[in-house]
Amino acid sequence: MATEESVYSEPQIPADHETILGLLNLTAPDDKTSLFQDAARTKFREVGPRIYLRGIIEFSNICDKNCYYCGIRKDNKKVERFQMSEDEITAISLRAYSQGIGSLVLQAGERCDKKFTEMVERVVRRIKLESNGGIGITLSLGEQEPEVYQRWFEAGAHRYLLRIETSNRQLYERVHPKDHDHTVRLECLENLREIGYQVGSGALIGMPGETTTELAEDALFFKKIDLDMIGMGPYVVHDQTPLAKKAGDYDHERQLNLGLKMIAVCRLLMPDINIAATTALQTLNPNGWELGIRAGANVVMPNITPAKYRDAYTLYQGKSICSESAAPLEYLRKLFINIEEKVVPNQWGDSLHFKKRT
Ligand code: SAH
Ligand code: SF4
Repeated sequence: MATEESVYSEPQIPADHETILGLLNLTAPDDKTSLFQDAARTKFREVGPRIYLRGIIEFSNICDKNCYYCGIRKDNKKVERFQMSEDEITAISLRAYSQGIGSLVLQAGERCDKKFTEMVERVVRRIKLESNGGIGITLSLGEQEPEVYQRWFEAGAHRYLLRIETSNRQLYERVHPKDHDHTVRLECLENLREIGYQVGSGALIGMPGETTTELAEDALFFKKIDLDMIGMGPYVVHDQTPLAKKAGDYDHERQLNLGLKMIAVCRLLMPDINIAATTALQTLNPNGWELGIRAGANVVMPNITPAKYRDAYTLYQGKSICSESAAPLEYLRKLFINIEEKVVPNQWGDSLHFKKRT
């Protein structure tokens, strides 16, 4: 999976643990500001002053897994489960497309049964067909067999997001049940890359017991596996999960800061990839997306899931309040009125790094 001859643009900081740790541990406001400014300058130079959009559709909260941090884990019996129909997913996609959202993320809980994988294949094919190939599709549907990834790719999905959550195996094992296997997750990332997807991964930043030492290793890991995109965000507590009991010293401000510093460090290490300012940032701070863009991110993911499903897709607390689905483009343009970067409509906004490496 790792490439020996990386084709990244020149990193702006050395890819060594001490350097990254030093940046992640910055606390003085001036130091943090200059880190974010360096990252934003690097982004301007490498990928331009543009914000790409991914309309995210959370089409089902049925999940066969039990990650200790996640609100829709299988054993959370308080969640009312839903699954959108193929017609509904297609209609939402086409409406978003007509509103200027050229690229979508289809996300859901993880299911590997045939009924589900075939449904996804059909719906991807249909969205591509009915948009005349116009809509770019990213999938975020967890770990699957290589054949399934292959079929979804052939149906028209061209990007895949699968967070490693943490590159540290011991920490991974502390926040997942025994049958959730770090090695399998790594293999999935490798398979996705071999099939030809633009591959995105990321970390769940600041989990209980995690320190900046592990996060520095995550940033190095992302570079080592030569990612095209990063979609990472701070861990946010969900009360109905086992991990909430261990989140005694949980602090919103710390989580936000860690999330922003990770974006900046990753931009400096991997100048030409796509990095998303994710919903978790916006949940922690009403300006979270803007702060993420100012720290080096170049993608935002407006939630275009219909309002009636939002409360049921609560991965973490406070999430459902985020984003406006009626006129996403207008909403975002107003939201980003004060920043230099411009929201780009009607585009896939593919990873420049992917184009270079292929
Ligand atoms: N089931 C798929 C996609 C949906 S979950 C998968 O797991 O890949 C998408 C992401 O939500 C996960 O990768 C995880 O990093 C994030 N997530 C889950 N619980 C969270 C929490 N409490 N705080 C922040 N992010 C969370
Ligand atoms: Fe399921 Fe994804 Fe949540 Fe894990 S993080 S429980 S796989 S939805």
